[in-house]
Amino acid sequence: MVLAELGGKLRDSLRKLHTRSGRVTTTQLNSVLSDVARALIESDVSVKLVMTLRDNVKQKVERLIEEDDDDNDDDNDNDAKKEQRASNVSKMVQKAVVDELTSLLEPARKPHTMKRGKPNVILFVGLQGAGKTTTIAKYANYYQKRGWKTAMVCADTFRAGAFDQLKQNATKLRVPFYGSYTQADPVAIAEEGVDQFIKEHYEVIIVDTSGRHRQEAGLLEEMQEISAAVDPDNVILVMDATQGQSLYDQALAFSNAVDVGSVVITKLDGHAKGGGALSAVAATESPIVFLGSGEHFDDLEPFNAQSFVSKLLGLGDVRGLMEAMNGAGPDGKTHEELMEKMSKGEFTLRDMYSQFQRVMNMGPLNKVMGMVPGMPEYLVPKGGDDNSNTRLKKFLYMMDSMTDKELDGKVDFSDHDDAPIQSRIRRIAAGSGTHPKEVQMLLQVHKQFEGMVNKMGKSGMMGKQAQAQQ
Ligand code: GDP
Repeated sequence: MVLAELGGKLRDSLRKLHTRSGRVTTTQLNSVLSDVARALIESDVSVKLVMTLRDNVKQKVERLIEEDDDDNDDDNDNDAKKEQRASNVSKMVQKAVVDELTSLLEPARKPHTMKRGKPNVILFVGLQGAGKTTTIAKYANYYQKRGWKTAMVCADTFRAGAFDQLKQNATKLRVPFYGSYTQADPVAIAEEGVDQFIKEHYEVIIVDTSGRHRQEAGLLEEMQEISAAVDPDNVILVMDATQGQSLYDQALAFSNAVDVGSVVITKLDGHAKGGGALSAVAATESPIVFLGSGEHFDDLEPFNAQSFVSKLLGLGDVRGLMEAMNGAGPDGKTHEELMEKMSKGEFTLRDMYSQFQRVMNMGPLNKVMGMVPGMPEYLVPKGGDDNSNTRLKKFLYMMDSMTDKELDGKVDFSDHDDAPIQSRIRRIAAGSGTHPKEVQMLLQVHKQFEGMVNKMGKSGMMGKQAQAQQ
């Protein structure tokens, strides 16, 4: 996702609020809100939505500023106090933006809850190419892995090869499937398939429908007929995040035709800016349940509005990171100790070693790195998981070649040109079968982490209280 850009723009505009007096005029606030609105529109949030959001944020911030002024009605403020107040105002604006975006992503309608031991018929709809068939496979994989008796029905008779694609995925996943090469009536196939799987006591029965390039009347009618025939427990609309601003109208057309209960946004791993997701929710008034983040069966992430907004604004996903780390730790005690150290802003190479070991158990490195606040783009590995795991393993080998003193932060590596340091770097490279440049890269990554842990330690973000709130 090219989301961090929005975070950068937002932070730039918030900086404007740091005025000498510590007070913010309406003109200044308006100018900052215009910047924020522009950044959101550029990130593909629909224009209409941005205008509403802007008004809401403005009202909220004005109210808060008034309250703040009442509390601080003292003209003899010293500089520290002014600085504090300016920083409060930018925090207020940032918080109001985050809150507004989060609440937009949490519509009143709750996602469908799957019922155990009962058939849950889930109808998938979306335009051709949105990633519907791929998402169905991921969705089936997700539930099957969690012990649900899962099956798939292919009612897409429009696209040549649709049944073969679904069949291939189903076979790989060992999920039973229903479809036909000869039957041309998608409504009949959907009905027969669903009936059969209900009789066989399947719990998650997924129905794939046809997609077309545009929302045509024919497609929408067919969807309505299938929906009437199988009476789904949930209709999931699959949308391609790279479609940007047009997602709002697309989502509206679908939700006017069928009762869309949830949304899945795909292709957020590419160049999509992510803002379109907000538009889809606003148009359907239904929650996003999953995000598609790649072409593999495991690339499906349950959606969490807060984490999404944090990432959208480039604030990192501390919550997701904590959850992932908590779940993956080989032994809980060490993890607690490490968190304790980190909350004090301490982070040695040895700490990074144990973090990386955890990360190896957590899944694809690029996802984990993406959750780290402040992680520069160039350090987030791109491409397949194999690549990122190889890089991580190399890092571990390098750290294996370090002395205790080096691991425990008793050697200052910051002066790369220093001869003794260069010799240490060469020794580590030789011991791990890597290039000295790679060792420097590792040291740079560590510096980055150390700086971040330090900042988070100071801000209290890593403290016990912050964790308890997650
Ligand atoms: P459908 O026509 O809606 O059924 O779309 P498909 O499932 O056939 O997907 C269209 C293309 O998008 C395929 O090449 C998929 O591999 C790709 N795709 C689907 N979901 C994702 C995703 O989350 N990320 C990426 N990068 N590609 C995806």
